Amino acid sequence: MRQLGSFPGGLVLDGQKSRSTQQPIRSAPLSKVLTLPLQQHIGAAAVPIVKVGDKVLKGQQIAKAEGHVSVCLHAPSSGHITAIDERPIPHPSGLSALCITIQTDGKEQWTELTPIEDYKNSSDHELRQLIRDAGIVGLGGAGFPSFIKLNPSVHHHVDTLILNGVECEPYISCDDMLMRERAQGILDGIAIMRQATKANQCIIAIEDNKPIAINAMQTALSTHPENGKIDIIVVPTRYPAGSEKQLIEVITNKQVPNGGLPIDIGTVMHNVGTAYAIARAINYGEPLISRIVTITGNEVKNAGNLEVLFGTPIKDCLIFCETQWQITDPIIQGGPMMGYPLPNADLPITKTANCILVGVEQAAPAEQAMPCIRCGDCATACPVSLLPQQLYWHAKAKNLDKAVDYNLFDCIECGCCNYVCPSEIPLVQYFKFAKTETMNQQQERQKSDAARVRHDNRQTRQEMEKQEKALRQQQRKAALAASQAAKQAEEDKT
Ligand code: SF4
Ligand code: SF4
Repeated sequence: MRQLGSFPGGLVLDGQKSRSTQQPIRSAPLSKVLTLPLQQHIGAAAVPIVKVGDKVLKGQQIAKAEGHVSVCLHAPSSGHITAIDERPIPHPSGLSALCITIQTDGKEQWTELTPIEDYKNSSDHELRQLIRDAGIVGLGGAGFPSFIKLNPSVHHHVDTLILNGVECEPYISCDDMLMRERAQGILDGIAIMRQATKANQCIIAIEDNKPIAINAMQTALSTHPENGKIDIIVVPTRYPAGSEKQLIEVITNKQVPNGGLPIDIGTVMHNVGTAYAIARAINYGEPLISRIVTITGNEVKNAGNLEVLFGTPIKDCLIFCETQWQITDPIIQGGPMMGYPLPNADLPITKTANCILVGVEQAAPAEQAMPCIRCGDCATACPVSLLPQQLYWHAKAKNLDKAVDYNLFDCIECGCCNYVCPSEIPLVQYFKFAKTETMNQQQERQKSDAARVRHDNRQTRQEMEKQEKALRQQQRKAALAASQAAKQAEEDKT
C-alpha cells in the first residue's frame, strides 16, 4: 500500500462539476470559419506552409514547427485558407497574433492518415518525432510541447511517469469525462509514453471526487496489456492537488527542488488528455485537431463537455450549450481560480482551452480592496509555503529584489491566498505584475550588459587598430630612413 505524501496549505472547494457531467461528451457543431493561432503552445510559433486560396483537408499540416521548442499545426476540417493575418487571440494580454483562417466546406474530408502499425517496433526518438509532428502539447492547460517532456536528457533517467487525472479546479470536468468514456485510449497512450520514456513505474493519479472515472479506468486496466505495469492511485480532493509540483509531492513524497524541474527527481508528469491524443496520433495517425472543453457556469443552460475543433469560435460552443449571455458578461477561459477573463466570445478555442465559464464569479479581487489586517490566512493557505503578505508589500512597493528574495518565482499563481484574504486584496495580480516587471528588468539588464560588452569590445578593437597603425607608420618611417641612408652611402662611395 503506497503511503501518500501531502503539501502544505491548499483549500477544499465546492467542486461545482455536476452541471457539466450529466450527459456524455458531445461534438460541437462544425463552424463555418476556423481561426487558428500559430502559437497555441509554449515556445516558438509554428510557420505557415500554406497560402491564401489553398484547399486543405482535415488533418493536413498547415504550419511547421519552428526551432526545437515548437510543434506543428493542422487543419481541423477541410476547406479553403481565406486569410493568414493578425487576429485577436485568447490570451490574458488581449493581444493579436498571426492566425490561419479556414473557411470550412462542410465535407470533413480527411487527408491520408499514416498510423504506425506497431509502435513497439519504433525507437523512442521516432515516437517523439511523430508526437511533435502531430502537434501534441500538454492538454492540462499549459500547452508545453509533449515530445520534450518525453525526452529526458542524457543526464536524467525517468523513474516515475505520472498521469495527471486530478483536475482540482472547480467546474472543470473535461478530464473526468474523458476518463469515464475513453479509458482504453488513455491506457493505449500511456503504453506509448512508457516506451518513449522507459519509465520504471507508471501511476495514474485521480482525485477521490471522481468515482465513475476511477471505476472506468480500473475496469479498462483490468483487461489491458498494461495491466500490472500501471497503478491507479486515488488522491484526496484538495485544491491545488492537480498542480505539477503538489501532485508529485503527494504521489512520491518528494519535493521538486526550488527552481528545479520534476525530472531532477526522476519524475515526468503528463495530463490524461495528452495520453489519449498520443494514442490517436500513433495508432490512428490523427494529429491533434480537437480537444474536450467544459462549457459551464450559471448562465449555461445545457452545460457539458464538447469535443471542439480548434479554431471554433467560443460563441458557437456557447450557443450550442444554450447560454444566455450579455456582451458585458465576463467569459473566463480556465477555472475560477487560475483562469483569465476573455474580452469577448468571438475568440477561438485553442489547444489550451480546457474550460469556458460564463456567469461565474472568479475568485478575484473586489474593486475596492481593504487594508491588510495581517491575519496570516494567506500564508496558511499557500501550498508552496510562501509568505504572500510580505510578497504583497514588496510587490506593491516595487521592491522587486526583495520580492524575489521571498521566492516570488515559486508562486504557482493558484489563487488560494486571494480566495481566503478577508481584505479581498488582489494578491495574485500583484505577484503576476512583480514577475513580469522583474523579467522585464532582467531583460533590460541583459540588453544593457550586452551593449556595454559590445562597446568595450569596440573600444579595444579601435585601440588595437590605432596601435597597429602607429606601428606600421613607425616601420614605414624606419624603412624609409634605412633606404635613404643606404642611398646616401651609395652616393658617398661614388
Ligand atoms: S498564488 Fe502564489 S502566493 Fe498565493 S497561495 Fe498560490 S502559490 Fe501561494
Ligand atoms: S490574508 Fe489578506 S489581510 Fe490577511 S495577512 Fe494575507 S494579505 Fe493580509
